Amino acid sequence: MRFLFIVLSFYSLASYSQNHRQAGSSEIKLKIKKLNFLGSVLYVAAHPDDENTRAISYFISDQLAATAYLSMTRGDGGQNLIGPEMRDQLGLIRTQELMAARRIDGGQQFFTRANDFGFSKNSKETFEIWNKNEILSDVIRVYRQFQPDVVITRFPPDERAGHGHHTASAMLAIEAFDKSNDPSIFSDQVKDCGVWQPKRLFVNTGRWWNQTINESTPGVVTINVGTYNTLLGKSYSEIAAESRTQHKSQGFGSPGRRGDAPEYLEFTKGEKADKNIFEGVNTTWLRIKGAENISLLVDQAVKEFKDEDPVASVPVLLKIRSAIHSLPPSVWKNRKENEVNKVIQDCLGLFAEATANVFWSPPGEKIKASFEIINRSNLGLSLTEIKAERLSFDSIVSADLKKNAPLAFKSEKKLNDNLNYSDPYWLRQPHTQGLFSVNDPSLIGSPENQPAISFDFVFSLLNEQLTIRAPLVYKWTDPVKGELTRPFEIVPPVFVNLGKPVYLFVSQSPYDVNVVIKSAKENCSGNVELKLPEGWKSEPSVFQFTLKKKGEEQIFMFNVLPGKEEQTTSIEAIATIDNKVFDYSIQTIQYDHIPIQTLLPKASSEAMRINLKKEGGVIGYIKGAGDEIPSSLRNLGYEVWEMKDEEVTAANLKKVDAVVLGIKALNTNERIRHYMPALLNFTKEGGTMVVQYNSNFDLEIDEDKFSPFPIKMSRDRVTQENSEVRILKPDHQLLNYPNKITAKDFEGWVQERGLYFPSAWAPEYEALLSMNDAGEPAKDGSLLVAKYGNGHYVYTALSFFRELPEGVPGAYKLFANIVSLGKNNKPALAKVKSKAK
Ligand SMILES: [Zn+2]
Repeated sequence: MRFLFIVLSFYSLASYSQNHRQAGSSEIKLKIKKLNFLGSVLYVAAHPDDENTRAISYFISDQLAATAYLSMTRGDGGQNLIGPEMRDQLGLIRTQELMAARRIDGGQQFFTRANDFGFSKNSKETFEIWNKNEILSDVIRVYRQFQPDVVITRFPPDERAGHGHHTASAMLAIEAFDKSNDPSIFSDQVKDCGVWQPKRLFVNTGRWWNQTINESTPGVVTINVGTYNTLLGKSYSEIAAESRTQHKSQGFGSPGRRGDAPEYLEFTKGEKADKNIFEGVNTTWLRIKGAENISLLVDQAVKEFKDEDPVASVPVLLKIRSAIHSLPPSVWKNRKENEVNKVIQDCLGLFAEATANVFWSPPGEKIKASFEIINRSNLGLSLTEIKAERLSFDSIVSADLKKNAPLAFKSEKKLNDNLNYSDPYWLRQPHTQGLFSVNDPSLIGSPENQPAISFDFVFSLLNEQLTIRAPLVYKWTDPVKGELTRPFEIVPPVFVNLGKPVYLFVSQSPYDVNVVIKSAKENCSGNVELKLPEGWKSEPSVFQFTLKKKGEEQIFMFNVLPGKEEQTTSIEAIATIDNKVFDYSIQTIQYDHIPIQTLLPKASSEAMRINLKKEGGVIGYIKGAGDEIPSSLRNLGYEVWEMKDEEVTAANLKKVDAVVLGIKALNTNERIRHYMPALLNFTKEGGTMVVQYNSNFDLEIDEDKFSPFPIKMSRDRVTQENSEVRILKPDHQLLNYPNKITAKDFEGWVQERGLYFPSAWAPEYEALLSMNDAGEPAKDGSLLVAKYGNGHYVYTALSFFRELPEGVPGAYKLFANIVSLGKNNKPALAKVKSKAK
């Protein structure tokens, strides 16, 4: 077999997360024991949060195996319980939630380029949209890079898996198992990655899929993921609860269960195993030629480890390290060299940090870095060199590090001129519905970018060298949260942000478009202008800007005159500095459980020139899981009152024309049951109440209390965004006033039609629309309207929360009609009554 030197691009990330966390003695002991285990597991599923965190934690800290999770997607198409981010931005949040989970359990993380395009009912559709061959090549690439002995899929490779992405993830894992050892398949990878044959593949089955399964079921290996780890002071179920709870955007807060917990792995492919997943795999150093003596050295290190004097283990760890270093290149050599380096660092209590004076900077600019280095052991140690390739920084130093005496100094350096910006690598190019575009194949599989700048600190100890890599970070102290860091990032010199993601021109009148210019460096001046569709004009056509300070902003207002014809188009903003064009906007995502994330999307907004009318002036909005409905309503010209709990009173409701509940308000708003009577009464007295979709479990209110007449919720959805929409009640006021709704208004929708459709309803409701995915029966619950007293109650499972922020004209017209209900007294109303069943 060929040995290949593979630089796993994760070492520096691991050191980033652990930069501030030095392992204590019991953890060091576990890490030393792990040096003697050479077996690996790759867990495979479709989304962040699909993975079995208990099993992963068990493989890492009980079996001591190198363990990774390969998620096909970044979860871009999911829902978001913690904020308004969707699609690419949500994928970024969920990527970071997985990274946070892996920091807790110690696993590695991989992704393919597959885009989570939303719920898919079968693998056939999934493969068509993803481009199956591309994703298979990514899965095979990860097999060849990580070289797992055992592959475990979360899902069975058939319709029992439910979601089409789930089924597809298992099918791809199985196909890759058969093909990754064949050098003629994706042969372009072979030069860098070699080929690889995993020993066997299991499906992580369970009672969910097989109700009679138990420990003696033939072909099933059972592991006890409830084991308590004495060195960590936790059971794997407890560790898993912590890591699972990182999936906060999905509402996956989990309790820490204790006690035995069997997990069933069903043998599927490769060489059969009866008791242990690693049966027949040599998981000792004997699997590598020339490494025979290493296990004895590790045994010695474990035996002689002194918990109050871990530095006493450094000499033997250095011996282990040089034995590993002399081995021919292999995945295991690389992996174990990284592990032993980190253990040596932990034994020394050696801390090395580089912080910048700013958190972002354009290429070519000077930055100041501060260094803090400290040796907390009594072993003589000296710092000999510091280097950072991207700063063209390489300094030979000679500083002895006495026990517990910090070494601190500063240095100013210029960033190289040709550095890439730090936006996520998979979002740099436009992508299709199913596949991200990545120009550099060596990045495929990586969970995130390498740090913008990394420093290598080279130390000399006992006549050997030890290199510690630390990313450049920005650090500050929050009075409440304590010390915080964020990655140092490379950004353009100037950002151009348009005021809104969607501009609506409901007539040919001009409309103000704001552009915020923000500088990322000092003394930045140039021009800013809009790029408009043909026939559109702005007044003025160009502004000059001068920004003296870094971070300074200037706002410019363009008065935009749209064209005559209805059209869906875009408005772009560009800045020009010294004849160079910059068209990046900046978006920052900030949540406590993940590092701050920066995106640099093109400065472009949807622009719709549509003839749209509306009635009513003030809309009350009650928050649910988070959506962009308020800004969409403001776009329509409404005044929106985002009502706090205590503001939802009968007196206040008299001031609004309609009330809209945010998505999943009935699932997420704990107070909703208390003010629902006031809302229903408001409706009865003539108001319009609009309830957006809710899931049918975890309701915060009794099922018979949120509507004037019964509605039965279900999990029905229509996921094909182009599926035909049949208008059932073409004469209904809601489909005619103030805008005429036709089949054309359902063109250009994104991701899906809707979700969690009611499946049955009282005769007081009128179902206005009918739709279904191909091959399924009609679903008529997407838009239900009932007259209640003098007002209207609307329950809609249509995905307005996705369509409005994307600038879908028909969705705007329909939503305008919904909130305008009851505002005219045309005969249509009489019709509604006479048609009621
Ligand atoms: Zn999933």
